[in-house]
Amino acid sequence: MKTRFAPSPTGYIHIGNVRSAIYPYLLAKQAHGKFILRIEDTDQARYVEGATELIEETLKWLGLDWDEGPIVGGPNGPYFQSERKPIYHAWAKKLIAMGRAYADDTSSEQIQKYREECNAKKIPYLYRNFRPENPPEWREGIPLRFKSDPKVRTWHDEVMGDMKAGPEVQDDIILIKADGLPTYNFAHIVDDAEMDVDYVCRGVEYLSSVPNYLAIYETLGLKIPKLVSLPHILGPTGGKKLGKRDGAKSVDEYRKGGILPETILNYLACLGWNDGTEEEIYTKNDLIKKFSLSRVQTSGARFDETKLLWANGQWIRKIADEQGIDALYGRTNGFWPESAKNYDDEYKKKVLSIIYDRLKTLGDLREMTNYFFEEPKIDLTMIMKNKFLKKLSEEELSFLLQKTMQRLETIEWSEEILQNTLNELLVETKKKPAELFSLVRIAISFAPFSPALPLTLSVLGKEVGLARIGQTITALESA
Ligand code: GLU
Repeated sequence: MKTRFAPSPTGYIHIGNVRSAIYPYLLAKQAHGKFILRIEDTDQARYVEGATELIEETLKWLGLDWDEGPIVGGPNGPYFQSERKPIYHAWAKKLIAMGRAYADDTSSEQIQKYREECNAKKIPYLYRNFRPENPPEWREGIPLRFKSDPKVRTWHDEVMGDMKAGPEVQDDIILIKADGLPTYNFAHIVDDAEMDVDYVCRGVEYLSSVPNYLAIYETLGLKIPKLVSLPHILGPTGGKKLGKRDGAKSVDEYRKGGILPETILNYLACLGWNDGTEEEIYTKNDLIKKFSLSRVQTSGARFDETKLLWANGQWIRKIADEQGIDALYGRTNGFWPESAKNYDDEYKKKVLSIIYDRLKTLGDLREMTNYFFEEPKIDLTMIMKNKFLKKLSEEELSFLLQKTMQRLETIEWSEEILQNTLNELLVETKKKPAELFSLVRIAISFAPFSPALPLTLSVLGKEVGLARIGQTITALESA
């Protein structure tokens, strides 16, 4: 059993492209079959330097290793369409010999005129109505067209169900362009046949061209693979196709922002598919076990970045809880604030262990952990504007911090003792946690958020913790 992912190297791997890789990957793996990567690089105008490497790297990062394709090779290579020209030409010649393809040197101006003529008459433009009577011999430099035989065609789409199309959608499509390279329409048919592909999974935008493809399969006597049209990915409001403005970034941007590969895989697999339960978190192995085409929905699936971030938070916790903090720490390279570079792994691991359950992305580490690595900028307005602290005078605030400092100076610095001492301080000062703890929390971090006070203090260490409280007292007193 073979499936394939056939991206074009245009330099940008969009969320929808990746889903077109995930589904065939899952199908292949659950059938113990092979997943092929084929680079569709015949459109030289769209080719972007480095784009193939980006595709390969992204697939590897996601854990979607291919069994046949670039780098790994395979029995039906090459796996770059630009290197398969002789193969397409051989198949094209078969069609010519059968009288089912013709060279067409009609100029683009002339073709435009045909189009306008049809528009003026309000009839659909079909090139086959203008098929030249005496086509030249085919040679490179002249496009080659298929000679269509329009008729009613029926087929089954694994997602969309039974389909039917009339002759009006079938035309003399171009097989080989003037530059000698094949069109997608022709190349993918030849390749899928030569590479023994059983399932062709691609976006639903290709569905309307299927009748033209069927005509080519039929003419060449090729086995038609199972056709799988994946629903559109819609923007967050569900009305229209997902655009960049809806927050749909390239996979690379998500990666750089600290989204885990597990999340992308999980979230995209569920974009248009569910297993019939309420479950939302799936590992790759779960997906391999549970995925089925029969549960892929036919209508568009809504992309929701908030949900993606939620899922990423779940995955961050899952990795830390199931594989340990070291495993999560191993993923955080490049996500720490600049100032963290002077600290060792052990200290950063401690910081991670008390903050990970608040992270939505690994990139959040950059904004949420600064005060563990550098002195925070004292900003008394954070105290003055705090809804629990604003009613206290500066004297009282300073007194509370002094009292805290005196007590903490005498204790052994462990999370548990800190917790108990802070609780005792509540009783002694007759303050609520929202008052005393918020005050100390701000005094040591000047951050909008920090983990529970005993945890933060214990990681910062006695010297730093007390020094920061002292500095805030000085600032309050000189304010
Ligand atoms: N190269 C096409 C694309 O990137 C692939 C479509 C297909 O999978 O056949 O959209």
